[in-house]
Parts: sequence; C-alpha cells; structure tokens
Amino acid sequence: MSANRNEVVRKMAELMRSGATMLDKSCPLCGAPLFKLRSGEIICPIHGPVRIVKSESEAVEILADAVLDELEDFAARRIHEILTSLKSGNSSNEEYSLRTLMLWLQVLKYARVIKASSQKD
Ligand SMILES: [Zn+2]
Repeated sequence: MSANRNEVVRKMAELMRSGATMLDKSCPLCGAPLFKLRSGEIICPIHGPVRIVKSESEAVEILADAVLDELEDFAARRIHEILTSLKSGNSSNEEYSLRTLMLWLQVLKYARVIKASSQKD
C-alpha cells in the first residue's frame, strides 16, 4: 500500500475542495492526516474510509489485519515470480525454486488461516 507523496498531496487537495475538513488525528496505518467528509465519514487520503479506534488493542488489531493483507499480497507476488521463472525455463536451480515456492505457499496459507480465524470473532 505505497502511494507516492504527490499522489497523497493531490488527494488531500481534492478532499479539501470537496468540503472535507482535516482532523487533528492521523491514520493508524500510514500516519497521513485524516479528513472528515460532509457526510461525517472519516477518510484517509491513502486508505479511504478509516475506523477511529477507541483503544490501543483495537489499533493493534487493525494493524495486524493490514500486515496480514500485505503478507498475503507479498507471498502471492513471490509465488507468481517463481512460477513465471519455472515456466519459462529460466530457473537456474529448479529444486531450489520449488522449495522456495513451497515456503511462500505456506506463508500465504497461514496468512489466510489467521485472517479467517480473526474474522470469525
Ligand atoms: Zn492511511
């Protein structure tokens, strides 16, 4: 979830123009200033709608969810890369690539299992 600085500034200007007000709170995920829309919705210029956390434990929970999303995304990209190199025959060490692939699959699997179990309660 990396947005470049210019993009963020542009998005903030857009929010201001639409009548949103900048709050003295920052996004728990990226630290960008939060905005309140006319509708009352709280928005991060990078992440979109944001929940204002009531406690530290809630903040940790939200951060953990974001980390799992990031991990899932990263593992999927690595798997795709390894698979692409294996399919093209460019892999210099097929056995090593396959072992790495299996490790990333495990990472992906656990990220999903943890996410699914935390969403249940
Ligand atoms: Zn954010």
